[in-house]
Amino acid sequence: MKKYIIYFFIFLCICFFIPIFFTSPFSIKEVNSNIEPSNIITEATYDYKQYKTVKVLHKSTNKIEEIPFEEYLYGVVSAEMPASFEKEALKAQAVVARTYTLYKIVQNSSKHKGANICDDSGCCQAWISKENRLAKWKEEKRDEYWNKIVNCVNETQGKIITYENKPINAFFHSNSGGTTEIPINVWGGSGYPYLQSVQTSGEDAYSQYSSKVTVTKEKFEETIKKEHSNFKIDFNKKDCIKIKEYTEGGRVKTIAIGNVELSGVEVRTLFGLKSANFKITVESKNVTFEVIGYGHGVGMSQTGADSLAKQGKNYEEIIHHFYTGVEVKDI
Ligand SMILES: [Zn+2]
Repeated sequence: MKKYIIYFFIFLCICFFIPIFFTSPFSIKEVNSNIEPSNIITEATYDYKQYKTVKVLHKSTNKIEEIPFEEYLYGVVSAEMPASFEKEALKAQAVVARTYTLYKIVQNSSKHKGANICDDSGCCQAWISKENRLAKWKEEKRDEYWNKIVNCVNETQGKIITYENKPINAFFHSNSGGTTEIPINVWGGSGYPYLQSVQTSGEDAYSQYSSKVTVTKEKFEETIKKEHSNFKIDFNKKDCIKIKEYTEGGRVKTIAIGNVELSGVEVRTLFGLKSANFKITVESKNVTFEVIGYGHGVGMSQTGADSLAKQGKNYEEIIHHFYTGVEVKDI
């Protein structure tokens, strides 16, 4: 009988104690708190205070540099926005840049192996070293401008823009032409609830607002043929170029040119236009694009931010103007 009690006791050990030794506290937490393992990782990932440095890929040298986070932002703000802009606009830019950087870190994309972000404004966001930045400013402005940038970053230290408690994909551009764009019209996909089309007054006061591109009819045909080999156009026909649809932000969505139909974004890329908000005029020898705004038009407009700051808005109000339903939070 005693023997059976011993066997029973051993059996109990196998059933209860051995699994405990093989179960890590981590997985016990999963079961107890009923949280998916991926969410546990997400919670840890979103502890923003852990990100003290940014690994930046310098596109020109293909080298990765690890820079203290706030110091990195001095280089971004001074590369992305004129230092002559209003302080509140520069502060909004600092918060946007901090948010965009965190979004990139957390997203952990494999785009730039070993780096969080690159210094190309066309790909991630621009960055310039202090030395190169100072060299580009007039000597008498160097101290004033650099201190202004540093103060704008420091005065917003730790502030980021969140939607549902996560950093937003804080797109920005130079000049919206008065109305910002929703991302689906630029890159496709499903969009983001906080990136809506909004209007800003005063953007026409900036040099980035309007531009013109003129090409010869031959060059025009040749450029489109590179992408559409079957392209044909008869410039004598009245409707040889016709805008068929506009986007929510008033940019060209689709345009019929000769026998092909292009998106406004494609025409922008083909002819190097500053935005997809354009008119086309055919003259005797040339084709002219009259363009409004500068950039993709999604998120914060930098000249719009400056215009709003001139109207007395602070950086938080500027952020709430361009990003719908967001919060400005401390990390
Ligand atoms: Zn990049």
